[in-house]
Parts: sequence; C-alpha cells; structure tokens
Amino acid sequence: MAAHPVRLGPARPRARRAPQRRLARRETRGDRLPHRRGLAHPGAPAVYAEWPSADPEAPTVLVYGHHDVQPAAREDGWDSEPFAPVVRDGRLYARGAADDKGQVFFHTLGVRAHLAATGRTTPAVHLKLLIEGEEESGSPHFRALVEQHADRLTADSVIVSDTGMWSEDTPTVCTGMRGLAECEIRLYGPDQDIHSGSFGGAVPNPATAAARLVAALHDEHARVAIPGFYDGVVELTDRERELFAELPFDEERWLRTAKSHGTQGEAGYSTLERVWARPTAEVNGIGGGYQGPGSKTIIPSSAMVKLSFRLVAGQDPEHVREAVGDWVPAQLPDGIRHEITFSPATRPCLTPLDHPALRSVVRAMGRAFGTPSASPARAAPDRPPTSRTCSAHRCCSSASPSRPTAGTPPTRRSTWTCS
Ligand SMILES: [Zn+2]
Repeated sequence: MAAHPVRLGPARPRARRAPQRRLARRETRGDRLPHRRGLAHPGAPAVYAEWPSADPEAPTVLVYGHHDVQPAAREDGWDSEPFAPVVRDGRLYARGAADDKGQVFFHTLGVRAHLAATGRTTPAVHLKLLIEGEEESGSPHFRALVEQHADRLTADSVIVSDTGMWSEDTPTVCTGMRGLAECEIRLYGPDQDIHSGSFGGAVPNPATAAARLVAALHDEHARVAIPGFYDGVVELTDRERELFAELPFDEERWLRTAKSHGTQGEAGYSTLERVWARPTAEVNGIGGGYQGPGSKTIIPSSAMVKLSFRLVAGQDPEHVREAVGDWVPAQLPDGIRHEITFSPATRPCLTPLDHPALRSVVRAMGRAFGTPSASPARAAPDRPPTSRTCSAHRCCSSASPSRPTAGTPPTRRSTWTCS
C-alpha cells in the first residue's frame, strides 16, 4: 500500500542508517535545537533534543515521536520505492511520512514558525524532543529508557505526535488513548483425544467449554460480562459526546474502511464512542479439536481462546487481569482444567478537556486552520506490542495508551499508519 499522504515541504531522504545521528542533524537543521544527543540504552537509537526557554518560569513540554517504520518493499504494492520520498500532487509519499517522521518534522517546522512569528530567539516553553526507534516493534526498551533518563525527560506536558487528524480540513486533537490487555486461555479435558462413540455424552468437551466461554463474554447489550471489568471507567462527559457528534462521520465510508458489513457494539453508544471511549473485549482466536479434512469422531483433549481487551481511562490493567482470571474458571464445568497466559499490558490515558495544555493546543490549531476551535477526539493504541495490527481512538500509545485525533477512522488506524 502507498503511504498515507501528508502535506509536507520539500522531500527529504529517509533515515535508514544511523537514524540517531541523521535525525539529530536533519530534523533540527535550521531550528538549531541547541542541545541534542542520542540517549544511551540497549535498544535501537533514540534521539533527544532540548531547547530551554529564556523564561525560567515557562512550562516544560516534551514531544514524543518515533523514527522507525515497519518493513516495506515495492512488492507490497508501492508505486515507488518505499524509502525514497516522492512528491505527487503536492503530497509526499514515503515510508513513515505519516507514521511518524512526518509528525516529527512538523514539530520542528512548528518551532521555526513560532520563532519567526514572535521574533523570539528561544521558544515560549522549555522544549524537549524525544524520538525513539522501537515503536513499531512494541517499544521493548522504552520504559527502561524513560526510567534511566527520568531527570532529563521530566516535563509538565507530553505531546504525542504519533496520532492522526480527522481530515485535512477538520483540525482535531487526540486527547486520549485506549489501553490493551491480552491473554491466551488454554482448556484441557481428557488427557488425549478420545473416541466420541465410546465416551461422548459422558465427559466434558474442552471445545464446547471454549465456545461457552466465548459466548459468555458479552451480555445481550454487548457489554462485557466479566464482573469488575468496568470498575473505574471514566465515562464520557456530555461535552465530549457533543464534540464527537459534531465530527462529520460517514458511517458508510467508515464501514468501507473497516472492511466490515455492519456495525454492532455496546448499547447506548455511537460508533465513535465505542471505538474511542469505551472498553471492549474481543475474541482474537478460537481453536481446538480436529481441523483437517473430513471428520474425526473425537472429544478433543484441549482447546484455545485468545482474548484482548481495550481499556479506557480509569481502568487498571492489573485489575482487569484479575477479573479475567476469576471469571474464566467460573465458566468452566468440572473436569476442564485451564491455563491463562497474559501478555504485557498497555495502560490507557486521557487528558481532560479543560487541561491548560490542551486548551493551548486547541486554540493554536484553531488559529492555524482559521476555525474557532479544534475538536478533541480520542484514539487508541498505535499498535499492540505483540501484534502488527493497529487499532485506534480515545488515543493511546503502544508504550502507554491514549486517544488520537479525530478524523481518521479510529478503529482502523492500520489503514492510515501501518500501510
Ligand atoms: Zn507510529
């Protein structure tokens, strides 16, 4: 697929080798972020730069981005070399143009514009820039990096630019991201596959147990039926619901993007609310028993279910994990044993609409776009750490959850960031 297009200035080459050195040099060229360096850690290179304000009382803003991209080849369907930027119809097409090098580049343009417009020689805020190199592979070393350099990275506000916007002409800010918890459940019945003619009807079947487990996951209103799952959930405010509803949402178009033939979800919520601001449970995989051609009259010895949960602000992944751990055995009949394996979780995050930093961002975007205000939207994790599938809105980040900007189809972020 072609890269998601973003409007950029002159094409610039991709950073394929030594991204730390090249980015530090290129992305700050002309903007002269005076202090820049690579941050030492065991993972792929991370770039750090800072530019203190002349005003010692100014707040500190840390901008996060990433310079790595998913692998890509011409054979994937690109019209041009993925790593060689091409301008067509005023747009730059290249690997990472929209995820996330374009955003990083725009931050540097923003600094330049800010200085030019105000005549300042330093930014109005203490500016810090952290560009990591492992986002596309789940940021395995990011937590350690942040902890190791906590003193340097301390800030009043963090801006995550690894998100999107509703559309070119609808300025939006991503105010939150959903988190993620995932598990694999293995169910065990007989010690080996056994003959249904001899034993069928008299012993529990793990495949049946798996089906019942999945069927019990939601109630008739499509709410997650695990006791305690919704504990702590930060409900949508009336204002948020208004702002979501104001977005020009075309469900038919959204469905085409989703490659789905219908919508469904938690009763009482719109599609955008469901994908941005509500927690979910999904069955990612289910299996067990004979899968080959023809029939085989067995009671299988095991079955498997893979589940994932999108979490919203206020939910504690550890609490959800415990709730799932209590719920699963309660669904199983005697004679079915189980094992649950949880993957590392991602926490949700949400910035309140009345946060001063958010107000500033909205005001600035409104000015830049010539509109009175920009609509906040929520998004979802850029990408689950263990999966290549992107998701979306009440934004989140992979190392930590959140909401993306309105605009792009929230639930199918893959279509605009992972192409
Ligand atoms: Zn990204």
